[in-house]
Amino acid sequence: MSSKTSSIQILPPLVAERIAAGEVIERPASVVKELVENSLDAGADQIAVILENGGRNLIEVLDNGEGISKKDLPLCLLRHATSKLSRLEDLETLQTLGFRGEALASIQAVAQVRVLSRNQGSEQAYEIEGGITRKQTSEVKPITFGHFLGSPHGTQIRVANLFSEIPARLKFLKSSRSELAAIKDLLEKFALTHPRVQFRLVHDDQTLFQMKAQKPQERIQTLLGAQTKTDLLSESFKEDSLEIDFYWVRGLSLPHARKIYQSVNGRIVRDRLLQQALLQPFRQRLLPGQFPALACFVKIAPDQIDVNVHPSKTEIRFLNSQAIFQKLQRTVESLLQKQLRSSPSHPVSFHSPAPSAAPSFSLESAHAFRESFSGTSSAFPSLPYPPAFEETKLELETASPLGQFRGILFNTYLVFEMEDHIKLYDQHAAHERIRYEALQKRHLENETPARQQLLMPQTLGFDPDQKHDILKSLPLLEKLGFDAELFGEKALVFRSVPEGWGTDDLRTRLQNLLERALSLGENSSSLKMDEAVFEQLASEACHSSVRSGDRLTEFEALQLCRDLLNCKHPWNCPHGRPTVIELSHDQIDQWFQRKTKLWKNPSLES
Ligand code: ADP
Ligand code: MG
Repeated sequence: MSSKTSSIQILPPLVAERIAAGEVIERPASVVKELVENSLDAGADQIAVILENGGRNLIEVLDNGEGISKKDLPLCLLRHATSKLSRLEDLETLQTLGFRGEALASIQAVAQVRVLSRNQGSEQAYEIEGGITRKQTSEVKPITFGHFLGSPHGTQIRVANLFSEIPARLKFLKSSRSELAAIKDLLEKFALTHPRVQFRLVHDDQTLFQMKAQKPQERIQTLLGAQTKTDLLSESFKEDSLEIDFYWVRGLSLPHARKIYQSVNGRIVRDRLLQQALLQPFRQRLLPGQFPALACFVKIAPDQIDVNVHPSKTEIRFLNSQAIFQKLQRTVESLLQKQLRSSPSHPVSFHSPAPSAAPSFSLESAHAFRESFSGTSSAFPSLPYPPAFEETKLELETASPLGQFRGILFNTYLVFEMEDHIKLYDQHAAHERIRYEALQKRHLENETPARQQLLMPQTLGFDPDQKHDILKSLPLLEKLGFDAELFGEKALVFRSVPEGWGTDDLRTRLQNLLERALSLGENSSSLKMDEAVFEQLASEACHSSVRSGDRLTEFEALQLCRDLLNCKHPWNCPHGRPTVIELSHDQIDQWFQRKTKLWKNPSLES
């Protein structure tokens, strides 16, 4: 092996430039990030991003900001040239997104750049070119026109052929599609922190999205994907040097974490600590692998953080991270609690005192009532929900907090009419949620569930190689409420199942359960197991729930909805599908053109 260390050399400027550029400019999205930050720093309220081939061939950013003067134009491409900071102390009071004076210099080290700008108050626009294939410090050329997105002043920066001279970099770029997706993601983040700014994204001559200036609340609603204003819930926290504004979309759960936004002092960041504080309160409310849609805006005294940790400034350092963590988490918890106690669009009183004359409909009494009929104390009745009540002659409360029951559509959707809207509950999804939480509660409280003896024990055969794994899975089965023991070398006998598990399709379900338990293998004591257990619970809840198509009585329908609203997280089934949707009276009137549309939700097209 030849380890050859040559003598120290000062790198030629071009090489040094390119190495430095690599820190900031990794891919087309990094270019867009730097250019859009500059436009925002320049006070633009209209920004257009135009791309060709996912940004590889061309990235152009146009803004109507204050512009760059003729004198500054040649400077803006130089390293450490910035108009935003001149002394080290300025770092502490910084209001702008940029401050290093490196972005344009870095970009021109790895691409061709043309800057065209007309400064506020200037009669003329000027242009300068720089970049890899051109000689540095080119001259400033006057341009006779100069209008920017309808404004007399502004800036247009074109970045062409990114990395074309650096094959190593080019090789690592993802497909044009995923680069484009990253850019779209990025613009949505900017859009969130800058609601009054209009954004447009054009790719290969096609407008991918366009966002009009909006009020902050409307922008958040659009970006988080809340269907209606009332689905967007918020909570704030305020003290001397810290403000938190937290927004969450009730009833939305997603299989990815892309709708989790964190901003600190107007800058979108990606901070693990923040992320943990935000997600912790959802842990037992959503299935593993499901994420909420939320946005958290933190305002903190600048001397309490350091933003100068990472070249792209997406990471920050808090002086007192523990305190921030707790306050964030409490804010989230408090919102989740609040929405359970009362919520304007779901005017459900969760602890309504029952009128003394009519039979009460509180949950406890309904259970007690059910027990008096069935003679069991099953908290998990099997189909239908609850055990048939066809014959009950109960008078239903007229002013139910659920609204007026109006019937069942397609044997699946329970319809309730409220003062200004109707609600549709999906009976299967609702029952899944109820059962999931009950099973989960039982699991978390470490209660071993009541068991139900099987009249005929069920024997499942297995491959003798599996014996070792089967033995290992027995404690888990036991914990879930199954009594199972080995019978010889290749069979397992189930003598009882958890109460309420039911005996429909018993064999198949036991087989699935066993496979599931076996697949956990070595992990069965770790946190992973916990998650797997919840998943198991969810699928269990799903199996034994009221199915769509099962005919419910009015009483059962009411009871189901009440139980749902007593859940911790009533708005989704454990798999993330909505349990209830709302349709406003206004909306229906609009269909029949009785009213004109008052407020249009500007949407993202893609
Ligand atoms: P920084 O943003 O850290 O100052 P940049 O390299 O991104 O460094 O930009 C250098 C300078 O060029 C900025 O400080 C600003 O004065 C000017 N500039 C860049 N883009 C724009 C723009 N779109 N509008 C106005 N000025 C700009
Ligand atoms: Mg900048």
